[in-house]
Amino acid sequence: MSTGTLTIDLDAIAANWRALDRLSADTVETAAVVKADGYGLGAGRVARALARAGARRFFVAVAEEGAALREALGRGPEIYIFSGHMPGDTDMINDLDLVPMLNSVDQLTRHFEALPDHPFGIQLDTGMNRLGMELAEWSAVAQIALNAKPRLIISHLACADDPDHAQNAEQLANFHAMTDGISVPRSLAATGGILLGPEYHFDITRPGVGLYGGLPFSDAQPVVHLSLPVIQIRDVVDGETVGYGATWTADGPRRIATVAAGYADGLIRAMGGHGQLYHEGMACAMAGRVSMDLITVDITDLKNDPKELDIIGIDQPIDTVADAAQTIGYEILTSLGARYKRRYSGGAGQ
Ligand SMILES: *Cc1c(COP(=O)(O)O)cnc(C)c1O
Repeated sequence: MSTGTLTIDLDAIAANWRALDRLSADTVETAAVVKADGYGLGAGRVARALARAGARRFFVAVAEEGAALREALGRGPEIYIFSGHMPGDTDMINDLDLVPMLNSVDQLTRHFEALPDHPFGIQLDTGMNRLGMELAEWSAVAQIALNAKPRLIISHLACADDPDHAQNAEQLANFHAMTDGISVPRSLAATGGILLGPEYHFDITRPGVGLYGGLPFSDAQPVVHLSLPVIQIRDVVDGETVGYGATWTADGPRRIATVAAGYADGLIRAMGGHGQLYHEGMACAMAGRVSMDLITVDITDLKNDPKELDIIGIDQPIDTVADAAQTIGYEILTSLGARYKRRYSGGAGQ
């Protein structure tokens, strides 16, 4: 076998959901965000595991993802669409029982005209300036919207991964000002917001990255294991170079393993010269640049030649890989390539 093996632990995802659920009061419902194909891990498998753990509301980015998720989950769980009701979405929203989060007066008008009796939610912008109605827009249509009984009102925090950032409290105050006194369930917190504490929890929380083992949920169980087969091993002598651009030079006799994965598999090229792979707990540095399909690794210090090297797992969580690539765990997860052999562990009975 010459492609990497990506193992996704569905029991760990369920355990992370339960752990995040325990961080809020029993009266607070914990939903689950499975956009971008479940952060790259397979929205259908992930959502079914979470539904078995008790999740009843799921969020995705766009209606097409919602349609695919409905096929995987069947009728029952609620599926919310962050991008709202866009032109062309009406049939999917109606036929597959999706709930659009309406982001503007335009979307509100479209929804009320096309599907007057169909459920919807409202997304408010409290300071991120990305999606949702701002105060003036909301004030103009709030009464009309509330008369039609939205399922949910949400807003999103821009800086929740930084508990000390002043914008968290500002957005919290804005959300209160825009929604206090309204008897519709409210949701403000994603993973970072859950960790900010109870005043951010409202009625429903909506974690994403924490379910998948990513920061800022530092207590998360690891979910992803990625192991890459070694295709070839060679010895190089002092002064020889390895890889494109000849950027890495042996400072003595060195043993180099070439593994079968590269930037086309989401192992971002920027980690060349910084990244590490692991064999039985021992770190081995990348030697030179990451190629499209291959990575070269200095295995001189290993006692035995490895058959494979691990790049994500217990030894090295996604956020450590992300640091080496100067990005965030979210991008590592959602970049994981299509060539890997994917295995799911846990999630018994699926
Ligand atoms: C992606 C997203 C979430 C989940 O965020 P995490 O940081 O992954 O927990 C929640 N709400 C909205 C609006 C989002 O876009």
